[in-house]
Amino acid sequence: MKTIFSGIQPSGIPTIGNYIGAMKQFKMLQENYDCFFCIVDEHAITVPQDRLKLRKQILQLASLYIAVGLDPKQATIFIQSEVPAHAEAAWIVQCNTAIGELERMTQFKDKSQKNGKTSVSAGLLTYPPLMVADIILYNSDLVPVGEDQKQHLELTRDFVERFNTRYGTASQPILTLPEVKIPKKDAGGRIMSLQEPTKKMSKSDSNTKGFISMLDEPNVIRKKIRSAVTDSSGKIEYDPENKPGISNLLVIYSAMTEEPIEEIATKYADSSYAEFKNDLAEVVVAVLEPIQARYEELLVSEELQDILDEGAEKAQFVANKTLRKMRNAVGLGRKP
Ligand code: ATP
Ligand code: MG
Repeated sequence: MKTIFSGIQPSGIPTIGNYIGAMKQFKMLQENYDCFFCIVDEHAITVPQDRLKLRKQILQLASLYIAVGLDPKQATIFIQSEVPAHAEAAWIVQCNTAIGELERMTQFKDKSQKNGKTSVSAGLLTYPPLMVADIILYNSDLVPVGEDQKQHLELTRDFVERFNTRYGTASQPILTLPEVKIPKKDAGGRIMSLQEPTKKMSKSDSNTKGFISMLDEPNVIRKKIRSAVTDSSGKIEYDPENKPGISNLLVIYSAMTEEPIEEIATKYADSSYAEFKNDLAEVVVAVLEPIQARYEELLVSEELQDILDEGAEKAQFVANKTLRKMRNAVGLGRKP
């Protein structure tokens, strides 16, 4: 069975962008792959976090993973910092990666600009090597992510090829070369901000009107969709270049109902934006309500703690094996 790894940062409450671009795929893939789904808290601290809020968000994300239908019997669900091999492997990755490669990453450029160069952490620059470590430790064959992570996955593949050439032999590669799996843009690979539809929806956006969090109450969802930025033409059609706002709403509708975009556009051809937005809000509420109900039960349960304990143990077992191979390859310590 092939292996999958993916992670989400507990840097806020997951948005419907995270749901459509990542979590929804996880649920389908767990049937046919050996899956590792991680709460990447070490990634979250690359930008400042409130410690108590972070702790809470870690458990909220864990509950949401299970509430959307990830099955701990099928998939390993765990917290990154509870598997120390991630940080250790990341160091080996960093020492085999050029600074120039990291400075080229658009996420680093975006986030470092947003937070001001002087206060940016070194961790923000070395975030991709930690992500490389996350992926390679589980011998991942496939990494399902949103479109924004494409560049980091290319870096991962370059690293694996370089590491295997440097330390392995052609017949015995040390690390597994992963493939990336990204939904197409019209299938939700890149859900856009409701307020600035040319910008990616992000859970850490300071403008909370730009995203719908998976825990937003129905009335908040309705309000946010009603005030989503569109255009003045009033015609419902999919044209991401010229009508990014309404096109984004069509993608969300389609991802939530599994109806093709063209059919939705035809159905609403004679409707106003307001009518379409009202219906979209109900579609989103209908998907999120049962998830939220299950989430509430899980958050305070012993079951959740047990799942995370077991997940950490299972993840450690696999990760430590790969870490041993990496340590041995580069010559760390005294014995293989
Ligand atoms: P942050 O703003 O803290 O970076 P984020 O919303 O970008 O948060 P991440 O934790 O960085 O979320 O990403 C988790 C997963 O969700 C990744 O696979 C990422 O590609 C995917 N993802 C994030 N935003 C979107 C989006 N707008 N559309 C589709 N997928 C997304
Ligand atoms: Mg992100």
